[in-house]
Amino acid sequence: MDFRVKYFEIMEKNFPDKRYSTDTLSEKFEILYNELVSFNEKVNLTAVTDVEGAISKHFADSLLIEEYIPKNAKIIDVGCGGGFPTLPLAIVRPDLEITALDSTEKKLKFVSLMAEKLDLKVTTLSARAEEVGRKEEYRESFDCSVARAVARLNVLSELCIPLVRVGGLFISCKAAIGEEEYNEAKKGTEILGTSTKAVYNPILYTSSEEQKRSIYIFKKASATPDKYPRQYAKITKKPL
Ligand code: SAM
Repeated sequence: MDFRVKYFEIMEKNFPDKRYSTDTLSEKFEILYNELVSFNEKVNLTAVTDVEGAISKHFADSLLIEEYIPKNAKIIDVGCGGGFPTLPLAIVRPDLEITALDSTEKKLKFVSLMAEKLDLKVTTLSARAEEVGRKEEYRESFDCSVARAVARLNVLSELCIPLVRVGGLFISCKAAIGEEEYNEAKKGTEILGTSTKAVYNPILYTSSEEQKRSIYIFKKASATPDKYPRQYAKITKKPL
């Protein structure tokens, strides 16, 4: 199957203004795709390895949040796994400085490999988000924290919000969440220093179906109290 043809078809379905429909981007995403499939034979990064699935469910899906990230932002991708949304964002937005954080070192090897191969402004960090959030070097030092498909919103908030500076954004992207998941997280996001800025429910188009997504954007209005983030067991056992 011709990658380029599928790339243009799926990207234009998701982004009709054709913002990602260039030969240069198609070539970079094709390199990413080929490397992903080959690396995936040694280390399990994803179950989605067909061309259409990777372009829609990994590349286009990661780019759904791109327009909400401010220019030249220093961002951290919490639980980036094999590099999503880090790698697609870094490919289309060379202005961003991205720290790709995950607790699984072997997945980060793929992210470093791609950063080198495609000359991307990405640094990897192998650690647990809640520990990084307590370190002075990282705490409240990012313009933006992003996360895709990592945890329920009430848990994710405590991992992501402490990393963002006052005035910055926490952007969560996942399969559509119900009011219930948002409502159970709302109080915690306020304790951690943010208020909800915007909610979007875009549709992700694959070549055969439509899937609902939920993007929540929180703006940091005040510093996170010192006692957060807590140990992971406490975060999950008693979410804020
Ligand atoms: N964001 C990627 C994606 O959308 O393909 C990966 C999603 S995967 C389902 C969740 C990832 O979050 C895993 O790679 C896991 O190691 C990482 N993770 C979960 N909790 C974490 C934590 N507390 N600190 C760092 N990484 C974490």
